[in-house]
Amino acid sequence: MYPDEFDYYEAETIEDAIDLLEEHSMAETELLAGGHSLLPAMKTGLSSPEVLIDISQIDELRDIPVEDDTLVIGAMTRYSDLLDAETAHEHAPALTAAVEWVGDQQVRNRGTLGGNLAHADPASDLPGPALVSDASLVVHGPDSERRVPAEEFYFGMYATDLGPSEILTGIEVPSAADAVGSYVKKPSPSSGYAMVGVATLLTMDGDTVSSVRVGANGIMDHGV
Ligand SMILES: Cc1cc2nc3c(=O)[nH]c(=O)nc-3n(C[C@H](O)[C@H](O)[C@H](O)COP(=O)(O)OP(=O)(O)OC[C@H]3O[C@@H](n4cnc5c(N)ncnc54)[C@H](O)[C@@H]3O)c2cc1C
Repeated sequence: MYPDEFDYYEAETIEDAIDLLEEHSMAETELLAGGHSLLPAMKTGLSSPEVLIDISQIDELRDIPVEDDTLVIGAMTRYSDLLDAETAHEHAPALTAAVEWVGDQQVRNRGTLGGNLAHADPASDLPGPALVSDASLVVHGPDSERRVPAEEFYFGMYATDLGPSEILTGIEVPSAADAVGSYVKKPSPSSGYAMVGVATLLTMDGDTVSSVRVGANGIMDHGV
C-alpha cells in the first residue's frame, strides 16, 4: 500500500523543527524519527499527514551523556545506540532491559526512544520502564523548555502532554546505578508487542532491598 501525498521537510536543528511545526500548524503534521510506527501507519492509511518533518538528522538529539547523576538520553537515540552504551546499562537498568525486548534487530537499528515514548502506543515496551525509572521527558516548544515527569506525560492511548508545536528532545533518567532493573514481557504472537510487559527496579542497600518500583505496559490504555 502507498501513503497519500505529503510535503517533506528536513529539520537541521531543534529550533528548525519547532519553526516548521509552527509554520504548518494549520496542516496535519507528523515528525519523522525512526519511522517504525509512523510509516506502517501511513502505508496502511491509519495516518495521512499533509506535512512530514524529518528530525532524524538533528545530531544534538542523539547524545547519551551523564550529567549530575542523571542519564540524559537524546530523543533521537536509537535503541541499538542505547544498548551499545555501557553507561545506559549502568544508570538506567530497567529501561535498557526493556529496549532489548523491542522488535527485532532491524527495528532496534532504526527506532528511537523519543519516537517510542511520544507515540504512546499502550502495547509498546518503554512507558512502564520510564515510569519505574522516575524519568522526566524534556519538551521544547516555541520559546519554552519544560520537563514533564513520565507519570504526568501519558493521558491515554496515543495521547500525551505534547502540544502541537512541541517536540520531545530528551529523556532524563535519575541514575539507578545502585539498583537492579529488569523487564519481562509476554509478546503478542502476531505482532510481538506487549500483551503485558512488567518492569521492576529494586534499589539495594547492601544486600537489602530498600525500595521496589513496578511498572507495566499493555494492561491499560497507557503504561502504568
Ligand atoms: C516490525 C515492528 C516491530 C515492532 N515491535 C515493537 C516492540 O516489540 N515493542 C515496541 O515498543 N515497539 C515496537 N515497534 C515500534 C518501534 O519501537 C518504533 O520505533 C517506535 O514505536 C516509534 O519510534 P520511531 O523512532 O520509529 O518513531 P516514528 O515512527 O518516526 O514516529 C512515531 C510517532 O511519534 C512522533 N514522534 C517521533 N519522535 C518524536 C519526538 N522527538 N517528539 C515528538 N513526537 C515525536 C511522530 O510524530 C509519530 O507520530 C515495532 C515496529 C515494527 C515496524
